[in-house]
Amino acid sequence: MSFNSLGLSQALLKAISKKGYTTPSPIQQKAIPPILEGKDVLASAQTGTGKTAGFTLPLLHLLSENPKEKYRPIRALILTPTRELAAQVYANVKEYSEFLNLQSAVIFGGVNQKPQAARIRQGIDILVATPGRLLDLESQGLLSLKRIEIFVLDEADRMLDMGFLRDIERVIKMIPTRRQNLMFSATFSKDIKKLAHGILQHPVQVEATPENTTVEAINQKIYRVAKGLKSGLIIKLISEGNWKQVLVFTRTKHGANKLCKKMISSNISAAAIHGNKSQGARTKALAGFKNGSIRVLVATDIAARGLDIPLLPHVINFELPNISEDYVHRIGRTGRAGAKGEALSLVSADETTYLRDIEKLIEMKLPVEIIEGFEPDPNASTVPEKKQQRGGGNRPKNHSGSRNSKKDGQKSNHSRRPKRRNDRRSNDRRN
Ligand code: AMP
Repeated sequence: MSFNSLGLSQALLKAISKKGYTTPSPIQQKAIPPILEGKDVLASAQTGTGKTAGFTLPLLHLLSENPKEKYRPIRALILTPTRELAAQVYANVKEYSEFLNLQSAVIFGGVNQKPQAARIRQGIDILVATPGRLLDLESQGLLSLKRIEIFVLDEADRMLDMGFLRDIERVIKMIPTRRQNLMFSATFSKDIKKLAHGILQHPVQVEATPENTTVEAINQKIYRVAKGLKSGLIIKLISEGNWKQVLVFTRTKHGANKLCKKMISSNISAAAIHGNKSQGARTKALAGFKNGSIRVLVATDIAARGLDIPLLPHVINFELPNISEDYVHRIGRTGRAGAKGEALSLVSADETTYLRDIEKLIEMKLPVEIIEGFEPDPNASTVPEKKQQRGGGNRPKNHSGSRNSKKDGQKSNHSRRPKRRNDRRSNDRRN
């Protein structure tokens, strides 16, 4: 199948060919036609499947078909959970709309709001936003969502994980009831289905990869190792393998920083990316990782969510995630576009339950290896660490059963909005 047969305008086809894409990805083949027909779409797709173009291309096509008004009201809203994802989606919107008369902007927290507000004042057709900053600017009267025609909820599962449900509900109340809705999610929990039911009307359901299955091209392996030997093992694997681009996941911000320091002291260029890092530091780390000047990017789940790093050869779980679905997200960073990837996990005794849960979710037993000199501790407890030391580094799950993102929360640059009971995070910290 070619892009020509999807019904997209010449201006979009030109932009697509400039990007070098020749064939639409499966999610694009499935999602673009119903979106062009004006239907609501519920899509199961994770980062790396080409989902962004899957909703952006038809969205731009539809908006460009309507005559533009002198004053451009915001007609499409794309809501994303993280700053990085917002910036990436915006970059895509800009590229694909290069030959169209459409204007766009991106807004997220953690940076000065003035340039964002100024850009919106100039008149934009498409707004890419994280929920906190969006609600902030709206409440200050700096933007209006009353003319939204197309509403996109990207990475809806992560939105809920991060506690954005109430914010999404507030946004929904601000946009017209007659609109087209597009919802993308990598996983489909009961909560996601409920959210979809509340937002979408008679949606067409499309799927890129079956739910909760891991990409076949990925070699997955478990290294059983004593907790205290993990740093040594990861440094050995990266150095001896001479790996050039490795994404490493830790469970906590503190853990990410600590590991990053150890890497650097072993002469492996590394940077940490998590919620406590400034936007500038995160952008710099990501750029360094993409251009090859940084070999290892150590990230927490929330910070890494949605990062567009094509053809990543190695992903290492320094610690297993306590939410099994996060394992699928993490390893989905490798083995893209048919390239072979490797996903390794360093597992200590206290992570035995997490491993069991993951294997249950992905319905396969992962091969285990033990490296000489880095053996597991036979006397270590198999009780998960957070149960061993309540109030310690790892916090318990929050009320919704999901990860408490306070561990990956971000510094608040201002705290205008009241704190909520049961939700200890402010939106600014999350965005
Ligand atoms: P996404 O899942 O939207 O994050 O996209 C993952 C990567 O695939 C991005 O680097 C896109 O630029 C790229 N991509 C999207 N669509 C295509 C396509 N049809 N052919 C080749 N690459 C694509």
